[in-house]
Amino acid sequence: MLRSLGVALLDLLYPPRCAACGEAGEPFCASCAEALVSPGEGCPRCGRPGRAATCGACLLHPPSFEAVQAGGLFGGPLADAIHALKYADRPALARPLGRWLADRVSLPPGAMVVAVPLGRRRRLTRGYDQAGRLAEQLARATGAPRLAGALRRVRETPPQVGRSRAARAANVAGAFAADPRRVAGRELVLVDDVVTTGATADAAARALLAAGARRVTVVALARAE
Ligand SMILES: [Zn+2]
Ligand SMILES: [Zn+2]
Repeated sequence: MLRSLGVALLDLLYPPRCAACGEAGEPFCASCAEALVSPGEGCPRCGRPGRAATCGACLLHPPSFEAVQAGGLFGGPLADAIHALKYADRPALARPLGRWLADRVSLPPGAMVVAVPLGRRRRLTRGYDQAGRLAEQLARATGAPRLAGALRRVRETPPQVGRSRAARAANVAGAFAADPRRVAGRELVLVDDVVTTGATADAAARALLAAGARRVTVVALARAE
């Protein structure tokens, strides 16, 4: 009661701001919310937008994860919000964005939530791990338990941006390891901010499955083409 009163008072003093443009609204103001693009139809495995059929890349190299669900297509206000969460030192955005995401995806029954971990060095320079924060808030909003610390990066990898599909896969291959005592037999939801080719999610899911996870579904704020 006191706590919700406190939240109401804070909202009055500092009205929630749009994660993309700073106008009033949470997580997006009315005009940014209107500019968001839903993922629509796409490949049932990797979520690549387009036809609702397994895409050529997934037919050739089926990913280790079961499916990708995203809150929206990358771009516009959603890209601005993710940029703010990752690079503008605004970890508090994970809460409204996590709730927003929870309304747009459906987690498999009994699933536990795991984040794609940042490398130690990047976590230290950024001061927080955005996918970890997001996973925490998605877990809170959906009631699914969060499995923290079960997946880690065993190798630092340079950023994926600007690399070809094959180079992205090579860059993250073997970069993750999972703890079999934590993940064996579990249905898992792997959380990241953006899924592009799915190479990072594939490498992380592969490590979870190698440690005995039953199934891995990927959930991201955005799906990039
Ligand atoms: Zn806005
Ligand atoms: Zn696909």
